[in-house]
Amino acid sequence: MDNSRIADRLEAFASLLELADANPYMARAYRRAAETIRGAPVAVAELVRTGRVRELRGIGPGIEARLRELVETGEIAELAELERELAPGLVGLGRYLGLGAKRSVEIARALGVHTADELREAAAAGRLRTVPGIGPKTEARLLEALAREAEPRPQRGLVLPRAWELVGGIATALDGEPAGDVRRWRDSCELLAVVCAAPDPSTVLARFAALPQIVAVVEQGARRAVGVTVDGVPVELVAAEPERFGTALVRATGSPAYVAALEPLPDAADEPAVYRALGLPWCPPELREAPFRGEPPDLVEVANIRGDLHCHTTWSDGRASVEEMARAARARGYEYLAICDHTPAVGAVQGLTADDVRRQAEEIAAANELLAPFRVLRGIECDILADGRLDLPDDVLAELDWVQASVHGGQRMPRREMTKRVEEALRNPYVRCLSHPKGRLINRRPENALDLERVFEVALEERVALEVNGLPDRLDLRGEHVRDALRAGVQIVCSTDAHSTRALEYMTLSVRTARRGWARPADVLNTRPWQSIPR
Ligand SMILES: [Zn+2]
Ligand SMILES: [Zn+2]
Repeated sequence: MDNSRIADRLEAFASLLELADANPYMARAYRRAAETIRGAPVAVAELVRTGRVRELRGIGPGIEARLRELVETGEIAELAELERELAPGLVGLGRYLGLGAKRSVEIARALGVHTADELREAAAAGRLRTVPGIGPKTEARLLEALAREAEPRPQRGLVLPRAWELVGGIATALDGEPAGDVRRWRDSCELLAVVCAAPDPSTVLARFAALPQIVAVVEQGARRAVGVTVDGVPVELVAAEPERFGTALVRATGSPAYVAALEPLPDAADEPAVYRALGLPWCPPELREAPFRGEPPDLVEVANIRGDLHCHTTWSDGRASVEEMARAARARGYEYLAICDHTPAVGAVQGLTADDVRRQAEEIAAANELLAPFRVLRGIECDILADGRLDLPDDVLAELDWVQASVHGGQRMPRREMTKRVEEALRNPYVRCLSHPKGRLINRRPENALDLERVFEVALEERVALEVNGLPDRLDLRGEHVRDALRAGVQIVCSTDAHSTRALEYMTLSVRTARRGWARPADVLNTRPWQSIPR
């Protein structure tokens, strides 16, 4: 058995462990082992036979035992069993219904069904209640979930990169347009939709059902279908008549409230024609949240951004050096990049002391020498301590070009204390920007109890900007709060908080979020050249 075959089997095992909702660390360990084996310069089967395989990185006793079984018998028994039982369609449908993979498999086994369709038939025939552990209440809940027609939603929203990968991939495969929440760049996407122009809908519907992303179709009509992914995420397909494609796209893009306020929608082949027929200017999707029939403002675009003011390097928890980050920023067409590593109070990762900040200055100076006229700015993401003091002394902050202040620990503070803590930090004369002001992590941590109105007042007095953090699970400030900030007269900064060169791409997410808050280029500080950013 050669290395690539062994690696393939371990990878298959990892995927099925994920599918089975097993311990995620275990799945990751198998994936890493597969990678190591694929790249190993020696025959791994031989290492297994001679008892030396644990000399390879990342291979412990558990994986060694599986490898021995694989090399000796040609198969991993548990893997073969998982492959028999875990029909992806079944698991996807189960997850869509709110069941774990194991529970779906148990139910399927009790019912003697093997596919999602058979499970649906069995449910429709009233057989669910014959399954041990399913009472009338659970049965009713599952049947209701199977029948929810108007708005199929995932158990939890998807972050934007994941939602775009899914919806964008399906749209490309079917020659359609992404619609739903992703097209509005909603921070957590629940309604995932693709609209196709289809003279013959049956072809498109069949291609949709056959896509690798779709493991089961839970609803199908003449011009509409809902499929689910293996993660149980529903995606809606609208196969519109070509002469009504624009109408279908408007309908599938806007929030229900936005669309309702435009009704009745005229039939049109493309979106601009719909708006023309309504006598309205075309509206950027990001603004199709609340009802709106007016003239949209000129919203900020990624092309307006001249620099990124928040990123990390290997000095704290980033993955690239100062020079690598700067080169990547320059390659994006920026004029400047602020290096803002963490300070010690952040805790979980390494933070920069006053000494470190001064040593980093040398590295930044060297990068500036290499990359001029591109400008690498000396910045910091300075923790705001529990009492509102900053994590570095003022004389150090005074040396820096750009100081971001951030709340990381102690986020459960009551509103008055939290607001006072942040206010205190904004009063520091060296602070230029408040990072991820609300501190939420999408799907994981709620927003801090922070009185934003008060923060806006102080930010305005102290001329501190508020960040629109572009990390996919932050997007903080979010759109509504950006709008409130701008109405209060506060400036915003679109930043990525990138921890790698690739993550500089998240500028798109920050800018789209700012657009959801109606931000124009002049509202965003880093649309200006560095010299024109006022201090
Ligand atoms: Zn931070
Ligand atoms: Zn950061």
